[in-house]
Amino acid sequence: MPDAPHDDFSGRLSNAGGRWLVTGAAGFIGSNIVETLIAADQEVVGLDNFATGHQSNLDEVKTKVGDDRWRRFRFIEGDIRDREACARAVDGVDFVLHQAALGSVPRSMADPLNSHDSNVTGFVNLLDAARLARVKRFVYASSSSVYGDEPNLPKREERVGQPLSPYAATKAINEVYAQVYEQAFGFPSIGLRYFNVFGPRQDPNGAYAAVIPKWLSAMTAGRSIEIYGDGTTSRDFCYVANAVQANVRAAMAGDAAQNQVYNVAVGGRTSLVELFGLLRDALSRHQVHYTKEPVFGDFRPGDAMHTEADIGKASRLLGFAPTHDISEGIAEALPWYLGMARRTAAQ
Ligand code: NAD
Repeated sequence: MPDAPHDDFSGRLSNAGGRWLVTGAAGFIGSNIVETLIAADQEVVGLDNFATGHQSNLDEVKTKVGDDRWRRFRFIEGDIRDREACARAVDGVDFVLHQAALGSVPRSMADPLNSHDSNVTGFVNLLDAARLARVKRFVYASSSSVYGDEPNLPKREERVGQPLSPYAATKAINEVYAQVYEQAFGFPSIGLRYFNVFGPRQDPNGAYAAVIPKWLSAMTAGRSIEIYGDGTTSRDFCYVANAVQANVRAAMAGDAAQNQVYNVAVGGRTSLVELFGLLRDALSRHQVHYTKEPVFGDFRPGDAMHTEADIGKASRLLGFAPTHDISEGIAEALPWYLGMARRTAAQ
């Protein structure tokens, strides 16, 4: 991957000025966005209800950016299902980067109504608050899950299928509302369809952990890992720095890029068996030698078999240029997971 995107992304960010709202700020992607914005001297408001996010993520960002810069961050503990909290959060804000949602397909299969409340009602609350507050740019997290049963690869933005889970339905509905808000109120936005984002601060714990943090935490502790299905299921794994870049570029994009959705990924495909090999090799470079073989289980209902993105549209209209492929992302994320494993073992 190139060392830097094809224009001066960080320089443009430093010059952006204005105030940012990051919802889901205590979560994985949100806290990484907050870190990048604050490091670039931006003024940031964070909103989170700690449903799946952690105070420790914010503490870590504070340590990384330092006390001086941290003063530019204001945190609101609040819930996007609460309209007043949304109104307070968007007050005086120029750019909204909306990440707050209940992630995970299996969580939505177990509890569809809760996913709906945060991901649909909460989404519309925030979208409407942003419209009324006349924010300049509204960027929101959609998901590759909206491709559903559409069989073609690579996934292109204009070809979507039927959603396969309540979670996918919530993200598809976000896109419908975003489109309607442009149509009905002239309030444009940009949706980012993330493909399996991974990196530091992605939660390895709990029943709904994503595959990379879940496996890394098991492998560093010498526990077995389970592959759902025969291991040929594949994903376009996207390192979090790429997702952060897409958000910032979308917020700074001109009018021609508005009212659109974009794939945010790297544009490759890694099977679960290949992923296991990559993680095992990366760990061995840190003298962690994992010798167990994975256990194969059933496919998970609601999961798509393969995802792979065409990122041409994001590249053309947003100037998106991923800086990390999967191996580079794993190499950069690993020290964080090893640190976490050490802290857990010491407890
Ligand atoms: P995360 O769970 O780490 O972060 C989500 C944050 O939103 C958490 O801090 C949580 O506490 C907060 N939140 C949830 N419900 C809320 C509510 N009602 N009010 C206020 N805050 C609330 O997950 P993430 O991986 O960082 O995901 C961020 C966004 O990206 C989500 O919208 C998710 O659906 C989307 N997404 C993520 C991936 C991925 O691979 N991680 C892929 C596709 C889409």
